[in-house]
Amino acid sequence: MQSTIQTSLQYAESERSKFTIECVQCNSLYQPNELTCTNDSGLLRTRYASRQLHLHDLPGMGKFLDWLPVSDHLQTRAGPVTYKSTELARELGLTNLYVGFNGYWPERGAHIQTCSFKELEAYPTMQLMQDSGNNKLVLASAGNTGRAFAHAAVGTDIDVYIVVPESGMSKMWLPEEPTDNIHLISMAETCDYADAIQMAGKIAGLPGMISEGGARNVARRDGMGTVMLDAAVTMGRMPDHYFQAIGSGTGGIAAWEASMRLRDDGRFGETLPRLHLIQNLPFAPMLHAWQHGRREIVEHVDMPNPKQLIDGMYADVLSNRHPPYSMPGGVFDALSETNGDVSGISTSEAQNARRLFEQAEGIDIVAPAAVGVAGLVKAVEDGAVKKDEFILLNITGGGVERLKMDFTLYHLEPEFKVDSPDMDIEHIVR
Ligand SMILES: *Cc1c(COP(=O)(O)O)cnc(C)c1O
Ligand SMILES: [Zn+2]
Repeated sequence: MQSTIQTSLQYAESERSKFTIECVQCNSLYQPNELTCTNDSGLLRTRYASRQLHLHDLPGMGKFLDWLPVSDHLQTRAGPVTYKSTELARELGLTNLYVGFNGYWPERGAHIQTCSFKELEAYPTMQLMQDSGNNKLVLASAGNTGRAFAHAAVGTDIDVYIVVPESGMSKMWLPEEPTDNIHLISMAETCDYADAIQMAGKIAGLPGMISEGGARNVARRDGMGTVMLDAAVTMGRMPDHYFQAIGSGTGGIAAWEASMRLRDDGRFGETLPRLHLIQNLPFAPMLHAWQHGRREIVEHVDMPNPKQLIDGMYADVLSNRHPPYSMPGGVFDALSETNGDVSGISTSEAQNARRLFEQAEGIDIVAPAAVGVAGLVKAVEDGAVKKDEFILLNITGGGVERLKMDFTLYHLEPEFKVDSPDMDIEHIVR
């Protein structure tokens, strides 16, 4: 009797709410801001009450509110933009090449002012924080994520603590004057991104602090997933192929999850887009594990001498030593379920692709995005895509040079400099 009442109460609850969060492995339900399953290592995933996507009349990514895990307050001009390529398409001999442009390019309606798709993760995450009553957020970043979250935090009442390794400091600029709820903590030159992550973990352990959660944060994934949603709405169908440069692969998981929602919607096709995820050589642990058919990344085999490998990269923001690859619902599953593949791109291939894209399309792109373009060039050469297939190329960042024509950039100054992740941190947070 008791259990019947409980079940019907739960049902009423889920009917009223816009979404629930559940583990992909055991289907246990969780609260919106929870990050891990208590039974297993499965990712938590959002299930939306609305099976079909209804576009909201809002600027930017707010259009996709139906499938974002936030209340109805997402107000930003930042959002994904999809257009059909003519010039690059001609160069590559493709007839249905679409560019998902995530950056600043007002002539195309693109208003991501920190110039990468990390901003699509930042806005919903900040809103989810606000919705669930948290006002102190901690994250580690090699650059683009920190910049995006700082920008999304400007003028809000959420304190954001961003831990950045020295190598990422030059990427910490904003297109506006920073407000004092943004706290930058820089690490000494001897520290790397892994040390920054460790430091952020320590700060997140202090009372009142909450970690943003990286790939485990559904607001981040569903925010990135809007690139796929926008493409499907623009094309009137899901693409056959999805190309993206990866470091963690979170964007790949997000694209897969978005495409499953589009399939369930019923109006965008039945077949999930094939994921073509691209790593930047020589640091490519997921490429290596995937080529050997392994769900597990074996550190000494797949990334021996990581520091040296990372030094050899063209786009070092694509280095991630602990990508969400193996766990249920992670990159390995996303690739398996979409008949996907991983490729590796060298510095010279990325440089050539950058030149090709910029000349053809007339906008500057960031180094990681060039790695993605090179992955498409290679797939065309290898015959992995057919001339008339629908292709979505995710340009994960661009328009920095274009932005400088319209905005003054302000460099963020660190509030604290930390010598080592072992340092005492109580004084950092008041
Ligand atoms: C973070 C980032 C990527 C990689 O995204 P993941 O899906 O998280 O691996 C690619 N390009 C740019 C510009 C990025 O900032
Ligand atoms: Zn579980």
